[in-house]
This record gives sequence, C-alpha cells and structure tokens, in this order.
Amino acid sequence: MKITFLGTGKGGYPTLTRNCCAIMLECGNGIYLIDCGSPVLDQMTRLEKDFDRIRAVFTTHMHGDHTFGLPALCSVCSWHYTNSRFDVFLAEKQGVDSLKTYILASDKVFHEDRIRLKTIAGGTIYSDENLTVTAIPTAHCLPSPSYAFLFEGEGKRVVFSGDLRRPDAPDFPEIVQTEHSDAFVCELCHFPTDHIFPILASCPADRIFFNHIGGADVTQTIAAIRDFADRAPMQIYAPDDYASYEI
Ligand SMILES: [Zn+2]
Ligand SMILES: [Zn+2]
Repeated sequence: MKITFLGTGKGGYPTLTRNCCAIMLECGNGIYLIDCGSPVLDQMTRLEKDFDRIRAVFTTHMHGDHTFGLPALCSVCSWHYTNSRFDVFLAEKQGVDSLKTYILASDKVFHEDRIRLKTIAGGTIYSDENLTVTAIPTAHCLPSPSYAFLFEGEGKRVVFSGDLRRPDAPDFPEIVQTEHSDAFVCELCHFPTDHIFPILASCPADRIFFNHIGGADVTQTIAAIRDFADRAPMQIYAPDDYASYEI
C-alpha cells in the first residue's frame, strides 16, 4: 500500500508550496483518492498515473478545498478516458446532483454508467478485491454531514480523519484511540497543536501523517510537528506535496 500526498495545504486556498487537500492511495492495482481539492487531473497526468486504475474517490465533506478538483477529473474521465470506471463518494446528495449538472452543462454528456456518483450513507461504503472502506461520521460542518474513513487492505489499516470540528476536535475518531492502525492521516487545521498532540501520543498508531497543515504560521506548525516527532512513541511525518510513503 502506497500513499502519496497530492495536496497538504491549510484550509480554503492553495499556497505557493501546497495544494488543497487530496491524497492518492495505491493498493493492489487500484488507485483510490481521498478528497479531491487539488488539481488531481493535472497532477496524476504529470505523475503518469493511468486513469483506468482509479477505482474510487472518497470525499470527506462538501467544502471546496476538498472537492474542487472533482469536476475536471470526472469530466475528463467521462469524456476522454473511456476505459475509466470508478465510484465517486460525496457526503451530500446536493453535491452529487450539482456535480452532475455542472458536468452536463459543460460537456453536454456525462457517462454516469462509468463515473458513478454516490452519496455516502455511513458504515461500510465500498469493498473490492483490494480493500474495504468504512465511513465514520464526524461533526466538522454540522448540520451538514462529514466523515472520517477507515481503509483496510493488504493486511493494513489506515484511518483518515477528514476535517474535524473547531475548536478542539470533539469528534476525533474514537477508533484511532481504541484500535491499532498502521497509519493515521490527521488534519492539522482546525485545532491547536498543543491540544491534539497529547491525544495523538496515546493512540495505538504506528505512523501519523499530518495533512491540511494550518495554523497562523505554517512554518511554526511544521516546527511544532518536528518537536512532537522527537518525543512521540510513533513515527511522525509532515509530508510536502507529492511525498510518497509505503505503508
Ligand atoms: Zn478543509
Ligand atoms: Zn472543511
């Protein structure tokens, strides 16, 4: 299982060095995307990834810094890459309907038999020969739904926090605290590092990757992560965009 960070930036907008949120997971021969806020179509093209390998896209919630890469990806895979076929999971039916309407308005045709837009219902939402994905409700944008995800494949367990609720992540996924994970990908945009680091230090996770790296000064946040890495009982990473890791 290989994880590549396509966008690790703070909320709302890209910066000179970091795109908005998107992660690519490769498991078996499949490619799975978690959030699609960065220009994923462009990035996968330049990484020479085969769009026919995409099996599913999972978005944690309907905020643009996690979804604005979707129209380009879905449109071009519908229109140009005619062997591509994958599921796209969105947190709300309004997002499904809007995405379909926008692609139709732009392209006049949308092959929804191949690019299958779906609303997340919670629980196990996806399973194939490579992995199983479980959606865990969070409270990031109440009353609108949002989700963390548990990925299980190749004997590994990886949890993605999605965005959590301000100001102190009361919706931190319990499963990360109570069950072993090979890797936990934690957002770091909606709460102070000195609040979340002690919680993370007690989690039975082998590795913690931070994405959505925020704070008033990202340089200071990175310095705080490095300091935490020196004392944390697990491996700690603050990936740059395009960093890749074998899990
Ligand atoms: Zn966000
Ligand atoms: Zn958000």
